[in-house]
Amino acid sequence: MANVNGVLGPIASEDLGFTLMHEHVLIANWAMRKCYPDYVDADAHVELASGEVKTALERGVRTLVDLTPVNLGRDIDVIRRVAERSGAQIIAATGFYWHEEPWMEAWPVEKLAGYLIRDIEQGIEGTTARAGIIKCATDRLGVTEFNRKLLQVAAHAHRATGVPISTHTAVAEATGPPQQDVFEEAGVDLSRVVIGHCGDSTDIAYLESILRRGSFIGMDRFGLDMILPDKQRVSTIAELCRRGWAGQLVLSHDACCHIDWFPKEMIQVAAPRWNFRHICDDVIPALREEGVGDELIRQMTVDNPRRVFEAQGAY
Ligand SMILES: [Zn+2]
Repeated sequence: MANVNGVLGPIASEDLGFTLMHEHVLIANWAMRKCYPDYVDADAHVELASGEVKTALERGVRTLVDLTPVNLGRDIDVIRRVAERSGAQIIAATGFYWHEEPWMEAWPVEKLAGYLIRDIEQGIEGTTARAGIIKCATDRLGVTEFNRKLLQVAAHAHRATGVPISTHTAVAEATGPPQQDVFEEAGVDLSRVVIGHCGDSTDIAYLESILRRGSFIGMDRFGLDMILPDKQRVSTIAELCRRGWAGQLVLSHDACCHIDWFPKEMIQVAAPRWNFRHICDDVIPALREEGVGDELIRQMTVDNPRRVFEAQGAY
């Protein structure tokens, strides 16, 4: 048993229950929100997002991990209000996304990591909500010199606090293993890392190359059929389970109650089932049809998330 940092206070790891490991309550640009206060209606959003989260709770989900990094607009006030209003346990992240932003360029790893450590040890934006996981990301540019620094920032904050790391990768560029290389060089125990968006791949050899090094992998974009249809996501999980990897898989949607990157109508047409209830409603029955039994489903949705958070403790 360990205490996990939830946005409303510590959560005993044994109470995490069914956990969605990669979701977003809100993604909206902070600069736009600051300069144009009507860019996001926070009150209306809290109401909408709480309703969405409740639909997952009604189906047995107990915990959501909000993996919104600082510079994608993580709003701790909104996240906390959604947790209070919906009754969900929500774990917030700290960390930086993959974009190469000018303000980061001149600062050393230790200074950037210091902000993340502050979020984890003291609380986010002056609240008592402490970050429970560290997010970092590598996308189509791969592990550039700049991106290497951002991964090192995550590694540094992880080693100082013991809080797990969860990543964003670009499967087309196979960026999972190079992330593991940077973490390993920085002295990170790879079993404390979730390599994210692996569910976008059907390449078993690629996925096993990550799993063999001990990391968890995120099968975490159910509902994003334009990237990879669910059917293929489900068969890949079934095959990995047959090969004995169920103990290192975690499930999620990467769904956002609001994301300012696309018009809402576009999302509704392109990804109508991209929401917090889709795994319970459609994916779990599909996994059962592919021969994945309830014990393995429980392992991926309850036991593995608990293990990700339970092994806390600084190095
Ligand atoms: Zn995400």
